[in-house]
Amino acid sequence: MKFAPIPYGRQEITADDIEAVQAVLQSDFLTQGPVVEAFEQAISGYCRAGYGVATNSATSALHLACLALELGPGDWLWTSPITFVASANCGLYCGAKVDFVDINPQNYNLCPQALESKLKDAKQQGRLPKVVVAVHLAGHPCDMRAIHALSEQYGFRIIEDASHAVGAYVLNEPVGSGRFSDITVFSFHPVKIITTGEGGIALTNNPDWARRMRLLRSHGVTRDPDCMDQAPDGPWYYQQVDLGFNYRMTDFQAALGLSQLQRLDEFVSRRQELAKRYSRLLAHLPVTLPQFNPETRSACHLYIIRLQLDQILVSHRAVFEELRTQGIGVNLHYIPVHTQPYYRTMGFAPGDFPQAEKYYTEAMSLPLFPGMSDQQQDRVVTALQKALTL
Ligand SMILES: *Cc1c(COP(=O)(O)O)cnc(C)c1O
Repeated sequence: MKFAPIPYGRQEITADDIEAVQAVLQSDFLTQGPVVEAFEQAISGYCRAGYGVATNSATSALHLACLALELGPGDWLWTSPITFVASANCGLYCGAKVDFVDINPQNYNLCPQALESKLKDAKQQGRLPKVVVAVHLAGHPCDMRAIHALSEQYGFRIIEDASHAVGAYVLNEPVGSGRFSDITVFSFHPVKIITTGEGGIALTNNPDWARRMRLLRSHGVTRDPDCMDQAPDGPWYYQQVDLGFNYRMTDFQAALGLSQLQRLDEFVSRRQELAKRYSRLLAHLPVTLPQFNPETRSACHLYIIRLQLDQILVSHRAVFEELRTQGIGVNLHYIPVHTQPYYRTMGFAPGDFPQAEKYYTEAMSLPLFPGMSDQQQDRVVTALQKALTL
């Protein structure tokens, strides 16, 4: 291979980031401490949310969010089949049942019309969901106004899985502000928009949910006399008042996140620039390009195309294999969750969500990350063009 491989996503770490982490490593505090708190305030400040609860992953934050909303056995959680498995698994962690709502074939997010008709049926059968997890696939915000209106009509709670959408906006509101949802979760995994190595956060405007997520983040143990059922025995005193977990973020991770947050808008702008450039360069190819909604600002986490298989002689798989051979790190986000072996054991089967399954046979994520050069992007475009005409 003549050139270095181009990954589908890559973090960008500067000398400032390293210095920020190093400063914490040389301080007295490594685990969750003052820097985690500063990071929570910085993220919730950026998003105009009341409270932020940082965690060791978005998966943990989704679990805490479900627990705060009192999801439990006998309840239903609904989400999109085109997402990472964690958006659905959080319901199972709580003992709830999981179901899916098919995607909108234009933006590949959970379809509000499909949601409405499924809600109508569920109401008749007395099995309305308690929680709907709206996933902003690729960083493109879901139609939150429509989903929010349905939540008022049918009485469910909304968690935004905004793992892809740190820095995205809906109608000039930052995703995470909670205007259209109850709790929003971000991921800081290295392929996402900004990183803490591993990490996540849950944002909410509800102080009770924030308090409960904080409690469960750390074993259900509290030192706050207001949360105890008796007066403290002494200054050493703590109480376990619930069954929690160890979902804490470390202070050095938070230091990395704080430092990265300063470049968030820069990262998103470069991602948008590259996405627009892809759309220009690919316009004449037999692929369906992502559509950008003018009412929202996408964080452009992924650039997903769909192959127009009736226009080409080569298979989806062969295009993938050829690009990977050429060192182009194409990827597929995602295999429909309901077709995973674990979910099939719950009775899901191919054919259940046809739009999601059709999407899966055509979709491809092209490399996209803020440090990508125009030259690298040109290489992706040339290789794709060749692969489509094999
Ligand atoms: C990455 C991701 C998660 C999980 O994030 P972690 O921080 O790795 O736990 C959840 N949902 C979606 C949509 C994701 O992309």
